[in-house]
Amino acid sequence: MMQSRQNVLEQVRVACELAKRSTADVELLAVSKKQSSDVVRSMFETGQHSFGENYLQEALGKIHDLSDLEITWHFIGHVQRNKTKQIAENFAWVHGVDRFIIAQRLSNQRPAHLPQLNICIQVNIDHQDSKDGCLPNDVADLVKQMSVLPQIRLRGLMVIPAPNNTQAFTQAKQLFDTVKTSHANPQDWDTLSMGMSGDLSEAIGAGSTMVRVGTALFGVRS
Ligand SMILES: *Cc1c(COP(=O)(O)O)cnc(C)c1O
Repeated sequence: MMQSRQNVLEQVRVACELAKRSTADVELLAVSKKQSSDVVRSMFETGQHSFGENYLQEALGKIHDLSDLEITWHFIGHVQRNKTKQIAENFAWVHGVDRFIIAQRLSNQRPAHLPQLNICIQVNIDHQDSKDGCLPNDVADLVKQMSVLPQIRLRGLMVIPAPNNTQAFTQAKQLFDTVKTSHANPQDWDTLSMGMSGDLSEAIGAGSTMVRVGTALFGVRS
C-alpha cells in the first residue's frame, strides 16, 4: 500500500513537471469505495489523509469506525435530495452537486458548529447521455446562485469525461477559468477535480488540481 501510493505520487510529480506546474497544486484524493475500514486505516498510515466515498451508508460506517483519525472525507457520488442532511453532517467536501436545490439544502443542513461545506459543481462536460452533472452552459448561473449560500464554500468543478476523451479536460479548464467571474467570492474558486487512475496525467496536464484515484492505490475493486 505504501508502494502503490508512492507510485501514484511519482506519476503526479512527473505530470506536474511536464506541465511546468508545482506538485503542491495537485492534491491526491484516495477513492476508497468498496474498501474496508481496515484498508483505509492502513492507507492513512502511509500519509494519505483525504478519502473519497461514493455510497453514503458504506461511507458512514467507515467515518464512524475511523473517527479517531484526522481524515478529510469527500463525498464524490451523485447527491440525491433525501441524502443531503447526512452528507452535510458528515463530510468536509461534496463533488457531485449539479442542481441549485441540492446546494441550497446542503447549506441549510450544514451544522453551524462545523466549517462551511466545500462544494464542487459536477459538469457533464462532454454531454454524455446517461451522465449526472449539469450542462456546461448552465454553470455560470449556478456559480452565481450557489456562491452566495452561507454554509457552503463553492470551490470549483468536478468532471468525469468519457474514457479517452482527454480533450474534455481542456474544455473543463477553460470553463473553470471563464465562470470564475460569476463567483461572489472568487478567491474560493480554486479546485478543478478531474483525473482518475487511467487518465490522471492528462488531467494534470490540462490543469487538474485534484485527482481522484482508486484502482491505482487499492487495486481492482471486487
Ligand atoms: C470510482 C471513482 C473514481 C476512482 O476511479 P479509479 O478508476 O478506480 O481510479 C474517481 N471518481 C469517481 C467519481 C468515482 O466514482
